[in-house]
Amino acid sequence: MAAVRSSGPGAGKVFNFKLVLLGESAVGKSSLVMRFVKDQFDDFRESTIGAAFFTQSVPVDDNTTVKFEIWDTAGQERYKSLAPMYYRNAQCAVVVYDITQAASFEKAKNWVKELQRQADPDIVIALVGNKNDLASRRAVTTDESQAYANEAHLLFQEASAKTGANVNELFKSIAKKMPLESQKQGQ
Ligand code: GDP
Repeated sequence: MAAVRSSGPGAGKVFNFKLVLLGESAVGKSSLVMRFVKDQFDDFRESTIGAAFFTQSVPVDDNTTVKFEIWDTAGQERYKSLAPMYYRNAQCAVVVYDITQAASFEKAKNWVKELQRQADPDIVIALVGNKNDLASRRAVTTDESQAYANEAHLLFQEASAKTGANVNELFKSIAKKMPLESQKQGQ
């Protein structure tokens, strides 16, 4: 797994990783990215067409920063054949479902299977149950998702792009999982 290292002024070591977002349309992929990158939420977001690209840094400790190159891929079926192009050389993937839509959880599991079969074998995968502000409409339990995540060796987080709950925590937990030590030793 190749992390590209660059130096940032006063930021210690900066490690760049490609991160792809996958999941059914309207689960909140773009909204999670907007919350993470701009700390904003838009109730009337238009769905992403094709893919959008963003970067955001996460300090891991005083001397280390992880910079994510985030590819927000459109979840629509008609773009599904493009997905391998985005995850092929990704070092991390965030697979999103909507906790109020059971079908989106099933789709998320399919994405995980596809990644585990076809992406880099060392890819770090995080499963995210978004929209946890809509707890009264919950259709997927936390226990069920956590059990699946444990079994499939995934990071797991329920979050809300709307309230911001657990969004920074999610990306920080991924940053901490990235193989920084082995990269440092090689320098
Ligand atoms: P994408 O197609 O997966 O990128 O989904 P979007 O980010 O476009 O979001 C789809 C819809 O869900 C939009 O109307 C968002 O405003 C809404 N949405 C996204 N995240 C949340 C959330 O955490 N809570 C709630 N209540 N709505 C959300």
